[in-house]
Amino acid sequence: MQIEDYIKAGKIASEVRENVRAKNWVGKSVYEICEEVENEIRKRGAKCAFPVNASINEIAAHYTAEPNDPITIKDTDLVKIDLGAQINGYIADTAVTVCYDAQYDGLVQASEDALGNAMSMIKDGVKASDVGRTIETTIKQMGYKPIANLSGHSLEQYTIHAGKSIPNIWSIGGFSLSSNSAYACEPFVTTEQGGGFVRNGQIKNIFALNSRKKTKNDEADKLLDFIWNNFNMLPFALRWITKEWEEKKARELLEFLIKKKAVQAYPVLIEVNEQRVAQAEHTFIPNESGVIITTKAS
Ligand code: MN
Ligand code: MN
Repeated sequence: MQIEDYIKAGKIASEVRENVRAKNWVGKSVYEICEEVENEIRKRGAKCAFPVNASINEIAAHYTAEPNDPITIKDTDLVKIDLGAQINGYIADTAVTVCYDAQYDGLVQASEDALGNAMSMIKDGVKASDVGRTIETTIKQMGYKPIANLSGHSLEQYTIHAGKSIPNIWSIGGFSLSSNSAYACEPFVTTEQGGGFVRNGQIKNIFALNSRKKTKNDEADKLLDFIWNNFNMLPFALRWITKEWEEKKARELLEFLIKKKAVQAYPVLIEVNEQRVAQAEHTFIPNESGVIITTKAS
């Protein structure tokens, strides 16, 4: 584990996240948000670990801007901005919810408090299920609901979801956190009227390489190489390939690669009762005495 790179990536991601938190995004398009935040990551010397997610209201996660996406932030919206920086494949994954309707300030606070309470209990050997219990209890005490089918995750080099889950509810069994690994913790919270679950939506605008097996279509194989060389196995957006291929062609090639199962597409995740969802997220590495929160605000 390359702890220095995790820390470098974390410092960059946390700086960018705090700037996102401080800024008023009302009137900006999600295209402007995603491009601006991604450029802030690159300017600081990291690569993007995945396309910036700007998921509005009942969309919990996995929405990134389409090329020239016109959707614009309104003064009643609540937006989860989830960003990732990577140095040599070592990832910092962090998120903040910006909210312009005071009615939902409590929802945002619940995600932040749940994350804070989870971070306070982390050290080598702590059970992930106990972290889940803390998250659930914090959220319920504040009068809200955790999203049960979204969770944090272990991280590995060039892998965001490396196999282990840190739940947002108490659950039986599970594993113990280890000082040899990095993890992300990400409480998602909805209102009492929410179902406390997400379902897949129709829209898919985040993709990742699945296999590097050649397709016998030269142009598609060229795109496969481009994806591997630039993003490795990490997620990417159509916006990231339309500098090399014009949009219509890029969409066609991507469709073809999805059909060939060389590329997978991730659907947006929507709260089942279409209630608003807030999220907070940190990346951390447990140790003997506690935790290094790589994305902690300085
Ligand atoms: Mn994230
Ligand atoms: Mn994550």
